[in-house]
Amino acid sequence: MINLNNEVVLLKTEINLLKGESPEEIVIKGNELNEKLHKRWLMISSEGVVFMSLLIAGVYQVRKTFRKEELLGQQQKNFLLSVTHELKSPIASAKLQLQTVLKHELEREKQKEIIENAIKDTERLNNLVENILMAAKIDNKVYSIHKENTNLSEYITAVINDSIRSFRYKQKVSLDIEPGIRLKIDKMSFHSIVLNLLENAVKYSPENSIVHIHLKKHNGEVKFSVCDEGRGIPDNEKKAIFNKFYRIGNEDTRNTKGTGLGLYIVKYLVEQHNGILSVKDNTPKGSIFEVSFIV
Ligand code: ADP
Repeated sequence: MINLNNEVVLLKTEINLLKGESPEEIVIKGNELNEKLHKRWLMISSEGVVFMSLLIAGVYQVRKTFRKEELLGQQQKNFLLSVTHELKSPIASAKLQLQTVLKHELEREKQKEIIENAIKDTERLNNLVENILMAAKIDNKVYSIHKENTNLSEYITAVINDSIRSFRYKQKVSLDIEPGIRLKIDKMSFHSIVLNLLENAVKYSPENSIVHIHLKKHNGEVKFSVCDEGRGIPDNEKKAIFNKFYRIGNEDTRNTKGTGLGLYIVKYLVEQHNGILSVKDNTPKGSIFEVSFIV
C-alpha cells in the first residue's frame, strides 16, 4: 500500500508538470502531496501494527487453549490409568484374602487379621468410589447440601477416630480439638473434607511421623488444620493441586496412589460452607492444610 501511494504521488506530480503549471505551484502542490503521503504512511503503519498485534494475540490465545486442552487430556488419561489400577487392586486383594480364609484352616487370630485387612480394602474402595461420585455430582451441579447445627468438635473427632480404627495408619495421628465448637454444616461434606485431608497427610508422609490435627475457635473464626511432616508441596504447585485430576509429578514416576480428585472436592465443599481452604509449609518440613470459617 505504501508503494502504491508513492506511485500515485509520482503520477500526480507528472500530471501537474504536463499541465504546464508554474514551478512555484508545482512545489506547493508537491509539498501538499508529500504531507498527505506522510499521513497515509502513518495511518497504514498504525493499522499494520494493530493488525499484527491482533494476529499475535489470536495465535497466542489459540496456542494457550490448545495447550490447556492437551494438559486436560493428559490428566484425564492419567486419571483413567490410576483409577483403573486403584479400583482393581483392592478388589483383587480383598478377594485373595477371603479365598485364603475359605481355603485354609487358620487360627482364629490369623483369620481375624485377614478379614480385617479385607475390610480395609473395601473401605479404601468405598472412599475412592465416594470421591468419584462426588466429583461427578459437583460437575453436574447436582450435589446437594443440607446444613444442620452440629457439634463440630465431636463430629470431627468421631470421623478421625473411625478412620484410625479402620485403616490403622503407620503414622501417629495427634488430636488437639477444642471441645464444644458448634457450626452449621452438611455432615456428609465435612466427612469428605476431614477424610480427604487426613488421608493425604498420611499418604504423603513417612512411616512413624506425626500428623497433628487442630480445631480451634478464635476471634469469631473456626479453624481446622491438618499438619504433616511429609514431602511438602513446592510453591509453584500450591495453586494447581486444587485443580481436578491434578497430581504433582508424572503418573510413571509417581509411587503413591491417587486420582487427583480429593483436593478439588475439598475446595468445592469448603466454599459451599463459605469457608477458605489454604495450604502452607510446615516447619521443618511437610504441609499444613487449613480450613477457616467466619462464625
Ligand atoms: P490425590 O492424592 O488422589 O493425588 P488430591 O487432589 O488429594 O489427589 O491431591 C492432589 C495432589 O496434591 C497429590 O497428587 C499430591 O501430589 C499433592 N498433595 C496433596 N496433599 C498433600 C500433602 N499433604 N503432602 C504433599 N503433597 C500433597
